[in-house]
Amino acid sequence: MRIDIVSIFPQLVKTVGEFGVTRIALERSILELNFWDPRDYCEDNYRRVDDRPYGGGPGMVMQAPPLAAAIRQARSAGEGRVIGLSPQGSPLDQATVERLAGERALILLAGRYEGIDQRLLDMEVDEELSIGDYVVAGGELPAMVLIEALVRYLPGVLGNEESAQTDSFSTELLDWPHYTRPEIFEGKQVPSTLLGGNHNEIRRWRLRQALGQTWLRRPDLLAKRFLSEEERLLLNEFKEQLKGQESS
Ligand code: SAM
Repeated sequence: MRIDIVSIFPQLVKTVGEFGVTRIALERSILELNFWDPRDYCEDNYRRVDDRPYGGGPGMVMQAPPLAAAIRQARSAGEGRVIGLSPQGSPLDQATVERLAGERALILLAGRYEGIDQRLLDMEVDEELSIGDYVVAGGELPAMVLIEALVRYLPGVLGNEESAQTDSFSTELLDWPHYTRPEIFEGKQVPSTLLGGNHNEIRRWRLRQALGQTWLRRPDLLAKRFLSEEERLLLNEFKEQLKGQESS
């Protein structure tokens, strides 16, 4: 997958490629990152990309011309859909990540200051995405969040091809708890089912936990999801076990 990033802080976004799964994806040529700095497309010698807002008010606004030139340059090199990172965008979720991971190329636009001239957004941006209902200072970290989430879906990146499929949200449930060695840590034991080697029991334990944790922490997800007969039984078992623990 090719991802082009339009940002006045390319060095910041580049660090996402220095670690973990994104570094692996770059090393294996599964991912290609390219950077376009709007300051390289300024008309003036000061490389300014911002100006005061029409109508007055605090802060500065990113100007359309250098951003348009950078995006068009990126598009002529990569032909990707343009994604603007913005608190006004649709909430980024796993279904969106999965959909975008199927694209051959994407162009990510990171804003700064009070935001970007609306005409540029109307003319050049295909879709806006938000990483949550809060405001960070720039679109670089949101772009990095999106890149890491996308990379986990690219074939050949994760050691175990199944992991992205069993992550939280992929099944519209939260993930189950994970354990590794040592078997006993400060008196706390790994659940015995996970040590027993019975694959069906392990599968049922994980599904019961995933359903239970989603019911406890994100009932909104559960309310939207159809539960099979087995899932209903397992969730009831989780609730009964919890009641037992609380009363003991
Ligand atoms: N004035 C804007 C507002 O209230 O919505 C905030 C602008 S913010 C300081 C500057 C840039 O950071 C935005 O243009 C966007 O690219 C990025 N940004 C901030 N919060 C974000 C979020 N939750 N999701 C995605 N991008 C965000």
